[in-house]
Amino acid sequence: MFSRESLNFKKNGVKHMDNIWIVDGHCDSLGDYINSKRDLMGKSGGGHWDLVRAREGKIGLQFFAAYIESDYKPYLAMQRGLEYIEAALRFVDQNLEQVFLVKTNADISHLAKTDKIGILLNIEGGEIIGESLFMLDIIYRLGVRSMGLTWNERNAIADGVGETNSKGGLSKFGHKVISKMNELGMLIDVSHINQAGFWDVVGQTSQPIVASHSCVKRICNHPRNLDDQQIKALADVKGVIGVNFCPEFLNETGQASTEDVIRHICYIAEIAGVDTVGIGSDFDGITSTPHGLEDVSKMGGLIEKLRAVGFDTAEIQKICYGNFVRLLKDVLK
Ligand SMILES: [Zn+2]
Repeated sequence: MFSRESLNFKKNGVKHMDNIWIVDGHCDSLGDYINSKRDLMGKSGGGHWDLVRAREGKIGLQFFAAYIESDYKPYLAMQRGLEYIEAALRFVDQNLEQVFLVKTNADISHLAKTDKIGILLNIEGGEIIGESLFMLDIIYRLGVRSMGLTWNERNAIADGVGETNSKGGLSKFGHKVISKMNELGMLIDVSHINQAGFWDVVGQTSQPIVASHSCVKRICNHPRNLDDQQIKALADVKGVIGVNFCPEFLNETGQASTEDVIRHICYIAEIAGVDTVGIGSDFDGITSTPHGLEDVSKMGGLIEKLRAVGFDTAEIQKICYGNFVRLLKDVLK
């Protein structure tokens, strides 16, 4: 079995300098899998992500989000979340030659030594646990290692960014969820949470957190994007921001290209340090894509663009995978 390093040279036929691979902090491709639209195994015409194109795009670790669709909330969210977890585990079982489920610190270390793609299971929306801390223990046992506290709506933990009239932060239960996730070693994802909740999380967490798929408000004034104070706060807790490829988050015209993604990366690196920035494509969760990043196979193209704007090899390694690797080593047991 080749290691990822040797594959970069031998299999792809392209001399990719410095053995750079990519961690993608967010995709919604499990949605197509659970709905039997695509098996995500062979190269499929539709969608943005499958195993063949993920390899072409130099993906070494992919966060798989279980996005609990609004129709299931609130009463069927737990059931739907469990269906998603089962689907993700089935996908891993079906593709053991090519992927493995990332659950531990040792698994993170293993990423650089294998050509398999690591899959990290994320729940997008704390509705899955209802109002039960016990459910956190259960989903942890099932392999979940990251959870977005909210999607855009309110739940028992906090309010999402879509609750535009709310100034509310974490609920009492939400504070208990933060403590429990810290204790378990489960990565806290603040991508969809509102401002008040964000600051409550930052004030309480004892571990680094992630905004797995978020962009910069200063560049593109969208409610889903992070302002400068939030970006700096994420740096202060040694967190990471995965820059989202959603054109509406990248550019107020609603049209975007690879250059826009680079612009958001550069901005975060400039105000919060290069240790704070990563990639969180949101592939298969976005309806349009930036020109030049039409699907996951194009991801490797970011490497040369980062070089072209002046990042050196060590910095490119941090942005593409190193920061997420450090974050997960800090959080996972
Ligand atoms: Zn999302």
